[in-house]
Amino acid sequence: MPGEAPLAGCAGSVPSFEKLMLLPAQETFGMAKRDALPQYCLDCEVRFACHGECPKNRFTATPDGEPGLNYLCAGYRRFSTTWTGRCG
Ligand code: SF4
Repeated sequence: MPGEAPLAGCAGSVPSFEKLMLLPAQETFGMAKRDALPQYCLDCEVRFACHGECPKNRFTATPDGEPGLNYLCAGYRRFSTTWTGRCG
């Protein structure tokens, strides 16, 4: 109705996505995600597409036994190497 205050949660009452992305907490989270990657991910040809995915899913081990690999890794590698044409 005209003249009424906007409802909580309307687009005009929340920070922009850009502002949320630039919060120090977001940067800290992103750095922590990167710093926790196993070497297998750091050497991965398709890391740019996956970045090890969500930390909550990193509960398996790499082929050489390092912990912290995403349990969906095989699927991500297959999918990403297919659409990028890179060898996995
Ligand atoms: S595809 Fe697998 S190895 Fe590559 S970054 Fe993602 S989880 Fe790590």
